[in-house]
Amino acid sequence: MSKTIRFGDAEVSTQHYIDGARVASDETFELFSPVDQRRLGAVCLGGPDTAAAAVVAAARAFPAWSRLGAEGRLPFLKRFAEEIGKRADLLCEVESNDAGVLLSRMRHGIVPRAMLNLTFFAEAALTLQDKVIETAQATHHVRHDPAGVCVIITPWNAPLMLSTWKAGPALASGNTVVLKPPEWAPLSCSLLADAADAAGLPPGVFNVVQGVGAITGAALVADPRVARISFTGSAPTARIIAQAAAANLTPCSLELGGKSPFIVLEDADLDAAAATGALMYRNAGQVCLAGTRFLVHQKVRDVFVEKMRRVVERLVVGDPRDEATEVGPIIHPRQIERITGFVERAKAAGATVLWGGEPDALGGLYYQPTMLTDVAADAEIVQQEVFGPVLVLQTFVDDAEAIALANDVDYGLGGVCYGEADHAQAIALQVKTGFIWINSFGIRDLAAPFGGCKTSGVGREGGAWSFEFFSDIKDVIVPKQAFKPSFSHR
Ligand code: NAD
Repeated sequence: MSKTIRFGDAEVSTQHYIDGARVASDETFELFSPVDQRRLGAVCLGGPDTAAAAVVAAARAFPAWSRLGAEGRLPFLKRFAEEIGKRADLLCEVESNDAGVLLSRMRHGIVPRAMLNLTFFAEAALTLQDKVIETAQATHHVRHDPAGVCVIITPWNAPLMLSTWKAGPALASGNTVVLKPPEWAPLSCSLLADAADAAGLPPGVFNVVQGVGAITGAALVADPRVARISFTGSAPTARIIAQAAAANLTPCSLELGGKSPFIVLEDADLDAAAATGALMYRNAGQVCLAGTRFLVHQKVRDVFVEKMRRVVERLVVGDPRDEATEVGPIIHPRQIERITGFVERAKAAGATVLWGGEPDALGGLYYQPTMLTDVAADAEIVQQEVFGPVLVLQTFVDDAEAIALANDVDYGLGGVCYGEADHAQAIALQVKTGFIWINSFGIRDLAAPFGGCKTSGVGREGGAWSFEFFSDIKDVIVPKQAFKPSFSHR
């Protein structure tokens, strides 16, 4: 078996990276490109022994790495980010070929963000000092102690971004990491291992185990030596992981799917709302935080629909490597089948197609940006996450109905609300969701919390919330007076 997949002049390793070295396994899985469905090659599939070896290496590296302190770790993580930057062109090419992400988005958005995910948290960790609580009896020194080995599991729609978003704070706060990349898009994470290696991270501090969820991921999350599991992916997988973690009481952070509302109030700027609405087709709609349920005030519905139609008609669907492309491919034939199934069942149930509604004429794994309407509130297409370029539009007559519809799903990840600023904010306060954008979309700041309510997740990551999760909080209590032992004392 070849140990690499070639991209131009560069070779990308298909092996694991454990204890500072490339490691092979006999079993492999096949990798195809969503761009044109060509076979890219075979990637190593780590079994339980490989997963265990990575956890052991990470556990061995933990004491020295955690003792370095945030100042000691800062230069390593800065170099890690620099090494990502040195590989920018290759990362762009790799992730647009194996995940179908737009090359332009990789270059201008995702690679710089991956670097920032490391440097931001490395610098933020410097300010993680003991919090001191003074009471009449004692001084409490509240510390963030590193937790230990952290398993990170990421999905295929943003592997580089999400893997660094989790590895950054985990490493910065003194933990060691075992990363399990997504099997449909594993190669940018392999390049992350190269970057960590070139940055001189001590062996075992950052490990990558390639493989499939049910074997490799399952072995990692069931390992009792693991201190934290940070997972981004679907709710059904999260339930399986939480069950495995329960056996060892391993804390989990779960960032899951969404079916977020995109609310257009009567007093909204409809041109702005329509332009933002079209952004829901970013990454071919394979974005957890997209507002996929359009809730539009009845009075402005027709005008809004025509404005958004005009924006969507101009979207360029095509090869993600072309600079002009705005909507790339769907990741895998199984996802195209899933998307087609949702749309066909909705049509059969009486939905009207406002635009799209079919695979794209380009063929392959391309699907038209789609908007469906005339759907029942409890219809599958309204309630379930499609994870493709398929949106649904409902109307409301007053604020109370808008809020009721917004909250009428099991998910609670994000949301968008267009309207006069105070009005939109008043509505936003009543939507049960992890975050909601007012007259905007997609503004993310690493210092802010990210995560969802209900079926969209458990816990928050970002800024201080990441450090809370990846740390053991310890209170060192120093009494102010000489302690007098007494059984009647509380
Ligand atoms: P998925 O749940 O199928 O897989 C995610 C990861 O989990 C993969 O690496 C997979 O190998 C692994 N996995 C699968 N079974 C496992 C098991 N039994 N044990 C351990 N690991 C296992 O999700 P997906 O299809 O790759 O990604 C799409 C989903 O991710 C969507 O629901 C989307 O909304 C969600 N997502 C959420 C966020 C967020 O931040 N909330 C971001 C991106 C994607």
